[in-house]
Amino acid sequence: MALCKRRGFVFQASDIYGGINGFWDYGPLGAQLKKNLRDAWWQDMILNPCWGRRGPGGQRVVNVPLETCIIQHPKVWEASGHVGGFNDPMVDCKETKGRYRYDHVMVFVPESGDPGDKPVFAYVGDQPTEAKQKKKAEKTFGAIKSVALSSLPQPWTRVIGPDAEKPGTLTEPRMFNLMFDTIPGAIRDEANKAYLRPETAQGVFLHFKNVVDSTRVKIPFGIGNTGRSFRNEVTPRNFTFRSREFEQAELEFFCHPDESRDWYVFWRDFRMDWWKAIGLAGENLILREHDKDELSHYSVGTSDVEYRFPFTAPGFGELEGIAHRGNYDLTQHQTHSKVKLDYFDTTRGETLPNGGKKGERYMPHCIEPAAGLDRGALALICEGYTVDPSRPSPEFLKLHPRVAPIKAAVFPLMDKDGMPEVADRLTDELFAKFGRYGFIESDAKQSIGKRYARMDEAGCPYCFTVDGDSLKDQTVTVRDRDTGQQQRLGIGQVSGFLGEKLGL
Ligand code: ATP
Repeated sequence: MALCKRRGFVFQASDIYGGINGFWDYGPLGAQLKKNLRDAWWQDMILNPCWGRRGPGGQRVVNVPLETCIIQHPKVWEASGHVGGFNDPMVDCKETKGRYRYDHVMVFVPESGDPGDKPVFAYVGDQPTEAKQKKKAEKTFGAIKSVALSSLPQPWTRVIGPDAEKPGTLTEPRMFNLMFDTIPGAIRDEANKAYLRPETAQGVFLHFKNVVDSTRVKIPFGIGNTGRSFRNEVTPRNFTFRSREFEQAELEFFCHPDESRDWYVFWRDFRMDWWKAIGLAGENLILREHDKDELSHYSVGTSDVEYRFPFTAPGFGELEGIAHRGNYDLTQHQTHSKVKLDYFDTTRGETLPNGGKKGERYMPHCIEPAAGLDRGALALICEGYTVDPSRPSPEFLKLHPRVAPIKAAVFPLMDKDGMPEVADRLTDELFAKFGRYGFIESDAKQSIGKRYARMDEAGCPYCFTVDGDSLKDQTVTVRDRDTGQQQRLGIGQVSGFLGEKLGL
């Protein structure tokens, strides 16, 4: 967090007024990192879906974009189940006034599971509380194990809340609506209440018919939507991981019900591969298939791409959910709007005497890969964050070149003898070729070691240095951020080298 603030990745929103809980802003490097992540999603999901990988039936994957409003008709959220339904059951602590998501509360109990008449200790997965409660539980029971609070019978008279002293202070779970509301228009009347969207997905279902009617897409196809979503999270925490305003990148992929299971597997696997390809390749990334009892009533399957964040370790936190949503959403909107949203598929049904098909009318099924860009950016930062006291910058960021906000830096070794001019020309060339993908930095101040260190901290993958020899033999040194190794390269080869390394 300190590095993020110091180098301008993430700032607390309204910092100079003391901040506002659950809201974060991105500084220059963070804004560009997030844009690169969004662009990578757009490129690999919309423009060149799945890098050309074919669908389960060997077909080309087709996705189109959409951009929908944050505020929609309030009935949208009744149909989607968010009004009334978008509730997380919450548990309050009468002693500390803390409020916790029911499904997040865990308890330490004796290994045998039976605490007798002794108290058991609750926690919510943030390290200090967990460690504190664990210590107390071990003192009370010796060998312990951790189970979900929901597995204990209510009332929880023997449960000591995460920061409480006395047992029995946790209330039974209650619902808490997570949607922010607002009143559009001049008349502040409750009847005009509207909501800030809690997800981008619903905008897609609303325009399913418009997209089918206005483009040439045929099922199977997907519609992508990215943008801000808002949830009045009860306990925003863990830096940007759980914020009240965040950005999503969601795809709704529509297909025939018979093919939906195969498409679900396809998207689940591709999304996992995608996160790996942009730099989360290690063992900190897992794909977790939900148990049957975790699934929504309409879902055939859901899996989460999860990352081991420092604050969830040894556990994992969700980066993206890939859900089989059946035909739930289209059916709900059809019922509530009274507009028919089914699909007429001319490629199916009986074969006619003329060789054509009779056609089949059905409600498409939907597979939804729903990614969070803020959690994605945070995972990239956490994965890249490396401590090495032997280096000039003891902390540095090993960001994948595709998402790195600074693509390259050009340094004249000294601010004299024609070096700045050569560096300037090279900078111009790199700007022209790569400036649209990220920053190209140039810097003539301070020792070269300090300049490298600054670039390492910002995650810049390559630095090019113009020195005395450059003027004689038209070469520069290129320094690799991860190894610190340097090699000489002809000035004319720099663009080609960088393009290859950036995968462009
Ligand atoms: P969680 O269980 O962690 O609250 P969720 O299952 O409710 O997440 P989804 O509704 O599946 O999340 O949303 C899709 C993605 O949107 C998540 O995988 C996550 O990356 C992102 N997201 C959801 N809520 C938040 C939040 N409060 N802050 C930041 N990102 C979020």
